Amino acid sequence: MIPDHLTPAEVKRDAPLAPWTSVRVGGAAEALVKPASADSLQKVLQFAHKEGLALSLLGGGANTLVGDLGVPGITLKLANDYFPEQIEGERITLNAGSAIARIVTIMKQQQLVGAEFLAGIPGTLGGATAMNAGTKNGECMTIVEAVELVTPDGIGWVTGLTFRYRHTDLPAGAVVSRVRFQLRQGDLAESAAKMEADLGYRKRTQPLSQPNFGSVFTNPSGYFAGSLIEKTGLKGHRIGNAQISTLHANWIVNLGGATAADVTGLMAEAQRRVLAETGVTLTPEVKRLGRFTS
Ligand SMILES: Cc1cc2nc3c(=O)[nH]c(=O)nc-3n(C[C@H](O)[C@H](O)[C@H](O)COP(=O)(O)OP(=O)(O)OC[C@H]3O[C@@H](n4cnc5c(N)ncnc54)[C@H](O)[C@@H]3O)c2cc1C
Repeated sequence: MIPDHLTPAEVKRDAPLAPWTSVRVGGAAEALVKPASADSLQKVLQFAHKEGLALSLLGGGANTLVGDLGVPGITLKLANDYFPEQIEGERITLNAGSAIARIVTIMKQQQLVGAEFLAGIPGTLGGATAMNAGTKNGECMTIVEAVELVTPDGIGWVTGLTFRYRHTDLPAGAVVSRVRFQLRQGDLAESAAKMEADLGYRKRTQPLSQPNFGSVFTNPSGYFAGSLIEKTGLKGHRIGNAQISTLHANWIVNLGGATAADVTGLMAEAQRRVLAETGVTLTPEVKRLGRFTS
């Protein structure tokens, strides 16, 4: 089940995935594959397609809950050096496997503006693009001009993607290998102030010292998921070693040794109580990966 072209350095069997996620929960990947090049990545996709193998993709794991029973088949992780970074004026092209922080750093170095809303969001640029990550101050769709996609059939640039709230329509099975951003000239002092204000807000309102995966549920239209959960009295509620944060009710934290079952139990309880008490359905923002006990 492992493509022949992969070197031992590119594959780990039975690799625990919890350390590769921000919430530190879940089982092992049957095979964790980190292709050394975009060419190797494409060969993995071709192989999995031909053999009908399960293929999953993990970015920085900052929005992912891995199941306790692990992930069958191949779990892919991208490197951040498949291609040289390109800076052409206001247009910046980066590897999808690079940290989100990279575009913020380059924006500051190049004295540009536009990506402030990404400051403080963990994960990779591929994950941010796939999730249309952002805040009330902006989303990836405002700065992503094009993505390079790898599929079993080839590799090529795509523009005109459809973005929605925390979702981007990507062709099934496609892997984003590079992202081209369009930033702009602007007021640098205002840009720095926005990021400072955002980071201060995060420190005050988010449980950043405990393992978590950010917002658990998307905000239903016209509501804040956190307020809805808080109203049900679930702040601080625990199942096993997972807890609905005492600081922000739309965040679940791992108190140490939490299982995916603990986390999904809390999510189900929040959904059940919010629906019963307010009639609003909460939709998970977090992506489930692999096999779960429930
Ligand atoms: C402390 C904290 C704060 C956060 N704050 C925010 C916030 O303010 N706003 C926000 O939007 N999110 C926030 N998040 C969630 C998370 O940081 C974002 O969703 C981020 O974009 C996830 O990136 P990732 O690489 O970790 O994705 P993962 O969790 O690894 O993957 C998420 C999804 O993207 C897919 N994906 C990953 N890489 C690729 C690729 N190369 N090609 C195609 N698909 C891919 C995965 O298959 C999966 O479906 C926060 C999380 C934490 C822990």
